[in-house]
Amino acid sequence: MKGGALACAVLFLLTGACCGQQVPEALPTSSAVYQQTYDRLLKQIDAIRIFDNHGHPGFADDPNVDAMVSPPGASAAFRLRDGNPELIAASKALFGYPYDDNSPEHLQWLVKKKAGLKQQERGYQYFDTILDQLNIERAVANRVELGPYLSPKRFLWVFFVDSLLFPFKNQTFISRNGDLAVYVPLQEKKLRRELAQEGLQELPPTFDDYLKFAARLLEDNKQHDGVGIKFEIAYFRSLHFDDPPKQTAEAVYAKYRNGGAPSDAEYKDFQDYLFRYLISEAGRLHLPVQIHTAVGIGDYYSVSNGTALQLENVLRDPRYRDTTFVLLHGGYPFQEQAIWLTARRNVYLDSSLMGIYLYPADLKNVLRHWLLLFPDKVMFGSDAFPFSDAVGAEESYWMAVRSARVALAAALTEMILNHEVTEQQAMVFARGYLHDNAAKLYGK
Ligand SMILES: [Zn+2]
Repeated sequence: MKGGALACAVLFLLTGACCGQQVPEALPTSSAVYQQTYDRLLKQIDAIRIFDNHGHPGFADDPNVDAMVSPPGASAAFRLRDGNPELIAASKALFGYPYDDNSPEHLQWLVKKKAGLKQQERGYQYFDTILDQLNIERAVANRVELGPYLSPKRFLWVFFVDSLLFPFKNQTFISRNGDLAVYVPLQEKKLRRELAQEGLQELPPTFDDYLKFAARLLEDNKQHDGVGIKFEIAYFRSLHFDDPPKQTAEAVYAKYRNGGAPSDAEYKDFQDYLFRYLISEAGRLHLPVQIHTAVGIGDYYSVSNGTALQLENVLRDPRYRDTTFVLLHGGYPFQEQAIWLTARRNVYLDSSLMGIYLYPADLKNVLRHWLLLFPDKVMFGSDAFPFSDAVGAEESYWMAVRSARVALAAALTEMILNHEVTEQQAMVFARGYLHDNAAKLYGK
């Protein structure tokens, strides 16, 4: 910005003089005009059919809900602990739960109620009904497989690919901490299943064959209605991927294909190369790449290694211009920086998970910040998942959807009353965030 333009902007901020608008001295959050605007917007926002960019729908006893499990004894943020009254409100709204507490005896009512509905509403109907109740048009299901009870018309399958980064003896990971000791064997098991899926009993003989196997798996899953790939790799290592030459990764493969545990440095080289190979393949196959970029569950999760900014060298690399990146969970708690990564044409950000950690009063500020920078690059995501046998993905969908709609109405009300956007523009933002941006990204 040139000096003159900057001076004009400052003058405008101080006096509102540039365009003849009055800048309010304080936000009129308790005024009648605020309330009327908010009520009018919320009504329109409630009517928007949602496109949910990320979630793990399914029943608590379904092992395919996620490729990960929560490590035993992990701490939970306040809002996700038992006894959150919002979850009781969710069970009341969705199932007519008749109690005001969540005592184990009362939760049995909920378990029975859901079991009865599952009997009645066979096939796809149970979860289709939940989506209808919440006015969700479509939802991305990030699962090991879509499974028999989620309709492919309403749920879009995004599949995990982290297992491809763990083909060797994984002792260095497993011995690092209790969380990895739970996560890594699940990846090993998943890779064995994927080798079998492609007709292999063991690792292919050469590195080129391994790359061919990985590409075939992506193609195969795409054929079976997969619409994107997902990395949870931030649970295992830093999101910073260096750029080693192919020969380096090939040498690691040749050395450890038949046994022995690679050193940390050797494994890192191999994974750095393979990650870059997979995102290139995803670009070739038009499969958007979802990446967990935020805080995570478990007491050993590294917040600094998992921040979205660690990916900047990859996201800004022109070689991956054909790959669409979807940074999940808003990069929280670094969401203010993460939005700047979406300045690049092929990078998007969603509010999944963050929207259930943060109450609407805080989510409102995040949405305000994001929408006033790159409104066409941000998307709603629920990260719905089953909490327990009684309180399930159904209730977490409810909580995420209610939080987002309320926070969005409050954010847009402020923007309108601050004269930052017109009401018409505000509703374009709302439809973009809740539906249109994701629908366009997945071509639906
Ligand atoms: Zn998730």
